[in-house]
Amino acid sequence: MNEARPHGAGAGAAPAPVTVLAGPTAVGKGTISAAIREQYPQIRLSVSATTRPPRPGEVDGVHYLFVSEEEFTHLVESGQMLEWAVVHGRHRYGTPRGPVEEAVGQGHPVLLEIDLAGARQVRESLPEARFVFLAPPDWETLVDRLVGRGTEDAEERSRRLETARRELAAESEFDVTIVNDEVPRATAELAALLGVRDLT
Ligand code: 5GP
Repeated sequence: MNEARPHGAGAGAAPAPVTVLAGPTAVGKGTISAAIREQYPQIRLSVSATTRPPRPGEVDGVHYLFVSEEEFTHLVESGQMLEWAVVHGRHRYGTPRGPVEEAVGQGHPVLLEIDLAGARQVRESLPEARFVFLAPPDWETLVDRLVGRGTEDAEERSRRLETARRELAAESEFDVTIVNDEVPRATAELAALLGVRDLT
């Protein structure tokens, strides 16, 4: 069985008020955060603002705050974003500062599921946060998930693999690694890091 691998200054046992979950593309961050949302209502999952359009089933204010380019620019320029980034070279995503500060003030554990560029910004602005890297069980699993459908051409395939290599190399910047071998186990491990146990 995999255990969280601690490897940094913030890796001690006491939960931090804010936990950042990041990791390579296609490692399953979205799946883990969805499981946290369903199973651990005590954990406040930060609702990101994004300029990308909603997908079917996504609810404004629950999965994301879907905003226009102008609204996003206003949030950034008025200092209301804790961090933000352009993800996959397309849409902007960012963490509104207010709800995070409010939840921390009320004593709730807060989870941010963001990309690596965003995590690096939080490292600067909120160094007391704990940084958790979600890792694939092995390289082949990540490759399968990235290019598994085989619908991309050779150039796109090698571009994705190069990105994955670079993203995996970021693990050492993080306090703790959780291996996403099985979603329920990895989810429980993350919740435990936030100081929350399953009530069932
Ligand atoms: P999707 O569009 O599939 O929901 O998310 C794409 C990527 O955006 C994911 O890797 C996710 O981690 C990242 N992301 C979601 N919200 C934020 C955010 O608030 N800030 C940053 N930097 N990345 C985010």
